[in-house]
Amino acid sequence: MSDCLFCKIVAGEIPSTKVYEDETVYAFRDIAPQAPTHVLVIPKVHIKDASEITAENAALVAHCLEVAAMIAKQENLTGGFRIVSNCGADAGQTVNHLHFHVLGGKTLSTEMA
Ligand code: 5GP
Ligand code: ZN
Repeated sequence: MSDCLFCKIVAGEIPSTKVYEDETVYAFRDIAPQAPTHVLVIPKVHIKDASEITAENAALVAHCLEVAAMIAKQENLTGGFRIVSNCGADAGQTVNHLHFHVLGGKTLSTEMA
């Protein structure tokens, strides 16, 4: 999608700090980190948010989670970590391209909602 911020990051039109990349997934550091490790894992193809997860793209979504687990190991998050995906206005989603936050490196808030 031409007007999507994360599609532009995937295309290299907007710079980002890459953590991992393969044919279908891209991971980069959040510009406003909320924990010592705050990485965003995204599918390279545009999927709006978690409401668009289907049987057809489920393998890609699972691969995003596999990459998130790999990054947690790479970042040495041995104490634990959190994977978050905000979906829609009530969840505070600000970028409408499916992404998984990987947060860790400190004791995270116990609040989930
Ligand atoms: P959301 O609020 O949609 O769950 O998460 C969007 C995330 O994208 C936020 O944590 C925000 O800091 C991050 N973000 C927004 N714009 C940019 C950017 O241009 N580069 C990077 N690396 N992260 C961004
Ligand atoms: Zn996009």
